[in-house]
Amino acid sequence: MIMGNFVYKCSSCLREYKRDEVRYLCPVCAMDYRPGIPLKGVLTAKFDYEFIKRHFSKKNPDFSLFSAVERQFFPDYPVGNTPLIKSSALSSLLGLENVLIKYDGLNPSGSLKDRASFLVVAESVRLKEERIVCASTGNAASALAAVCSSAGKKAVIFVPKTAPKAKLVQIILYGAEIILVDGTYDDAFAMSLRFTQKRGGLNRNTAYHPLTIEGKKTVSLEIFQQMNFEVPDAVVVPVGDGVIISGVYKGFYDLKKAGLIKKIPCLVSVQAKSSNAINRFIRSGRYSDSKNPRTIADSISVSTPSNAYMAKSAVENTGNLTVDVSDDEILKAQKILASTTGIFAEPSSSATLAGAIKLKMELKKFKSVLLLVTGNGLKDIDTPLKNISLPPPVSKDWI
Ligand SMILES: [Zn+2]
Repeated sequence: MIMGNFVYKCSSCLREYKRDEVRYLCPVCAMDYRPGIPLKGVLTAKFDYEFIKRHFSKKNPDFSLFSAVERQFFPDYPVGNTPLIKSSALSSLLGLENVLIKYDGLNPSGSLKDRASFLVVAESVRLKEERIVCASTGNAASALAAVCSSAGKKAVIFVPKTAPKAKLVQIILYGAEIILVDGTYDDAFAMSLRFTQKRGGLNRNTAYHPLTIEGKKTVSLEIFQQMNFEVPDAVVVPVGDGVIISGVYKGFYDLKKAGLIKKIPCLVSVQAKSSNAINRFIRSGRYSDSKNPRTIADSISVSTPSNAYMAKSAVENTGNLTVDVSDDEILKAQKILASTTGIFAEPSSSATLAGAIKLKMELKKFKSVLLLVTGNGLKDIDTPLKNISLPPPVSKDWI
């Protein structure tokens, strides 16, 4: 691979920077930023697409051409390569021609966030940074803690005290330093920024570090590879702070710029009703925080989505479909998904199916619809447990 085959481009002012000239946000646009508003000046990696066109071959595909960190810095951690499943049960349930599921809950730490953490830790190896700091609702934190353990790096994690227990257990067992915040994800985000400003280390906050988007885009590259160099017509994505949908968009965008696909799939943004700042922003054109984001879908519960601007353009550029789902709809979808496909998804990822059920008429125009299931259900068993009653035990001579 050619070293540094990309430049960073500001998503707000379009200024370009060399790879090591900037680390987080565009320095010009970041001057307007203060914690508590969506990030301005989020950077995207702009590759030499002509170079990729010349060197990418379907016979012997080298996806490292699309990577913003060279392979030699990769940790020994088996990220990605999660299954793509064709579900005839969901196709008939939704009345759609072809429903696919990308089950990213089978990443080693149980969520798609492994992809972002993997690339940021690879970057820390390149930069010889020993400490990586992050704020998270739980999944990014457990992913970072896991990848750091495999790379011999120290992870410092700010996480709301309300995060599901399984995620906290993961973080501690992987050996990270955990700071439980008596506040929200948004509070944890601001605290972790202050921490790296005062004490140093590499900050992995989602969207704040541009490689979180680059890491997440690998899910789209994988879908392209698994569909034999095709892409689905629509991808339904659970949206919290807007970084996963931006990453999914970036993967398809890179493939299009490299001449490998003709069209970026329609990206459908699914949000929880009480945490729908991005969807409201798309519908009305005016941004306002979610005032009280209380939802069982903890991974997509956020008041101020960090990547609201980029997520908005990802949706608007591809078909403008958004849908909000209630906690009840999420719980019902979780049960349907588990009992018809064998996939136990955490509440935020079950929101994907809940959204597809609500939008099934709009989705009929697509030949193939992919549901992105981002997190494993075992991450949070307390939520479904509230609606489940175990049968009474029987005596051992019952049968
Ligand atoms: Zn800028």
